[in-house]
Amino acid sequence: MKAVTFERFGGPEVLTYGERAAPLPEAGEALVRVRACGVNHLDLWVRAGLPGLEPEMPHILGNDVVGEIVALGAGVKHLSVGQKTLVNPTLSCGVCPACANGDDHLCRSYDVLGRRRNGGYAELVAVPAANCLPYPDRLSWEKAAAVPLVFMTAWHMLVTRARVRPGDDVLVIGAGSGVGSAALQVARLFGARVIATAGTAEKLDLALTIGAHDAIDHSREDVAARARALTGKKGVDVVVEHVGGRMFEAAVAALARDGRL
Ligand SMILES: [Zn+2]
Repeated sequence: MKAVTFERFGGPEVLTYGERAAPLPEAGEALVRVRACGVNHLDLWVRAGLPGLEPEMPHILGNDVVGEIVALGAGVKHLSVGQKTLVNPTLSCGVCPACANGDDHLCRSYDVLGRRRNGGYAELVAVPAANCLPYPDRLSWEKAAAVPLVFMTAWHMLVTRARVRPGDDVLVIGAGSGVGSAALQVARLFGARVIATAGTAEKLDLALTIGAHDAIDHSREDVAARARALTGKKGVDVVVEHVGGRMFEAAVAALARDGRL
């Protein structure tokens, strides 16, 4: 199969395109013909080298995979060859107390497809069959491949952790980013009022187009002061903060009493 791989850490110049041995699905796995694969910031970190992360080389990046199932490993009964799938990129043992409790992100063996395990920058990728989710047919391959990791992250932040509720005022920092634009849409889905921040006119327009009620230019405006002004001095009930630095300070200052960050 054709794949994009790297054998040493570095910039984009370490990526090479060429022929690689196709993976075989082991027991409990599915082999997916990749039709589209997202590019995440995580790919850049893994390629540059993360402390303590030593993937087997040559390594194939790629977390967000959509495609068609072309083969099944032993024991896989719930999928069929030819089925379209969106692959859940998170990997965990599935049997430890954390996994059993639905907290698979706390699993001792938690990982993400494309970090240690070979990912989707290839024609074929083998993944745990349990990770093959039904395909959202109304989305093109390319659009569907932009969904998994950022929406799972945003969902975890807003729904699992912050327990967003209808009527909450939610401040989404960096709404032009993958996680930010996903968070904005998840917050709207739950009936929240969304105030988005971004650093360019183009991203502010995008935020309003995909559902933000108000937008703050965080390159020029005082985010906390504007958020307070937009909520009658109350502050926001929830802040989605994934930027850090001075944005973290602004996020804390924008919170209402008993707010969730
Ligand atoms: Zn586990």
